[in-house]
Amino acid sequence: MSGKAKNHQTPLNPSKQGAPLWARYRTEMHKSFPSPFKGANDSLADGINQAIRELDHLKPEKIGGPAFLGKNSALTIDFENVKDSALSQKMNTSGNVIKQMIKLFEGLPNWGHPLTMCNVVPQGNTAAVVAAILCEIFAPNILEGEYAWNIHQAELESGGILANLAGWESKKAGCVYTYGGSGCWTYHLKYALARVLPDSRNKGVRTDAKVICSQQAHYTMLNSTDWMGLGMDNIIRIKTDIDSNAMDMADLEEVLKDLTERKIPVASIVCTMATTDANAFDPVEEVRNLMDKYPNPDGYGKSLLYCDSVIGWSWIAFKNYDFKKNPLGFSDIVLPYLEKNYNAIKGIFYADAFGVDFHKTGFSPYISSTFVYKNAHEFESLLSRGVIAYLQPRSPYNPMDYTLEVSRAAGGSLAGWATLKFFGYEGFQSVLGGILENKVYLQNQIAKKTEMVCVNSYDYGLVTLLRVYPAGVDAIVQYDNELKNPEFRDSLIMNNQLTRDIGNKLFEWFRSGKKVNGNCTPYLSFSTGFRTAEYNRDSTDQEAVIYAIKMYPMNVYITPEIMDHVLECVIAARDNIMSMNNLPQIE
Ligand SMILES: *Cc1c(COP(=O)(O)O)cnc(C)c1O
Repeated sequence: MSGKAKNHQTPLNPSKQGAPLWARYRTEMHKSFPSPFKGANDSLADGINQAIRELDHLKPEKIGGPAFLGKNSALTIDFENVKDSALSQKMNTSGNVIKQMIKLFEGLPNWGHPLTMCNVVPQGNTAAVVAAILCEIFAPNILEGEYAWNIHQAELESGGILANLAGWESKKAGCVYTYGGSGCWTYHLKYALARVLPDSRNKGVRTDAKVICSQQAHYTMLNSTDWMGLGMDNIIRIKTDIDSNAMDMADLEEVLKDLTERKIPVASIVCTMATTDANAFDPVEEVRNLMDKYPNPDGYGKSLLYCDSVIGWSWIAFKNYDFKKNPLGFSDIVLPYLEKNYNAIKGIFYADAFGVDFHKTGFSPYISSTFVYKNAHEFESLLSRGVIAYLQPRSPYNPMDYTLEVSRAAGGSLAGWATLKFFGYEGFQSVLGGILENKVYLQNQIAKKTEMVCVNSYDYGLVTLLRVYPAGVDAIVQYDNELKNPEFRDSLIMNNQLTRDIGNKLFEWFRSGKKVNGNCTPYLSFSTGFRTAEYNRDSTDQEAVIYAIKMYPMNVYITPEIMDHVLECVIAARDNIMSMNNLPQIE
């Protein structure tokens, strides 16, 4: 001990003269920790109140304001020097820290704003946001029953509700909330490896088992195969149909036949159930039939069928919809789209597991993804690591025995559960159907403008993809030529560039708070190749692809007037680009 250390004393009354500084600091901290007692001055209530009020100051006016928070939309981080940062000597107050924190929200996209249509990033519903916040305060941990107590009902009940929607026997099913759709992919792969290569749990992955998915599959397949140690080279991509983007069953059969002949096991087949841009759903039942026809060679477990349905899952809420009587009154155009989406997603019934992102088509905050499995007994026992001496089971439900994570915050599970409780069937049906009603409205408005064409009018997903041409061009004729006729390759490339310039201009306008006709401009995005030209099906020509402006009319504050304004902004951006570039006219 250093000679300067004081004799140990009980700091009973730190306010007393002579109380050591550390004890006075601790008393000061009472102002910055939530009170554990009723009615007391609660720094948490004050802090949240202060933060919500200050965030409210960052919100725009109802009419004419931008789709970001605050006044300064610039990226203000000093990237050169940001890491020259060190801990301060003195303690701060939570009030001061909250003030610094609010500054970081300046310029953040305002996901609930009607002009925000950039991606499948919906605003979280209030019940789910409150669920997430409450879990931060009392910190239930769903690693095991003891630390979450009754709150682990949220995970158990979510598993039941989602399994029910899939048509499974809910008592025998289950789910684990995890870190996103990528976490769900990783869980499926671990499940598959444990089943197909049982030795891999102790000895490591020593066999090149294959993971099969389509060309439309999400790139997170790389994360999962890489981190699980299977290796990215063990992914096999199956061709997709040029129109529907669905997995080609003939190609899948060829691959399975070949693997069977060579006695190579399949760990899993992944059906992609909707993607952000293409509304591609793979035919799960047909995949299941092929898997039954080509079982793994002797000595290996049965391969797993996983549905990556993290975007498409919520269409399952149309399960009980009477498409004939149409009780919610969807329009004649939208009604068959809803039915098609439902018929496509209901294939999850044939899977062993599927993924759900509540933060995408569930209108919940991050992160609230869940991996839902049909056979809880199998999944939980296959991955079990046995009893852990360190903690005592206080509930029959102790997922830490088989989860990837140890501590798991309950916020996602309570947010997902709250969302299921909030929407019910009709809420989900209305919020999703409403997106397609908005999309159809947009398409109709686009059809009235000669120089614009909607390039995905055949699909019934969430996004509207748009190309806009120089004034005077007949967009439908021009696009048809660009899509099909190699002689139009040069103008395709030129108009792709125009599309990208318009997309970038719109982003710049959104960020600078620019107004068109008195209202701010929308937050959109664009695709640099949502499909290939028809003469370039094998993608050998990198440039013969179709660029498009993307619009996701997701949120519940969007109105027809807003969508009209959005199209006017797209045209204004085109005119701005054309006047700057003097692009040559197209014959
Ligand atoms: C978004 C997405 C993922 C990745 O999910 P995260 O929640 O972002 O981790 C995986 N698959 C598909 C089809 C997706 O759309």
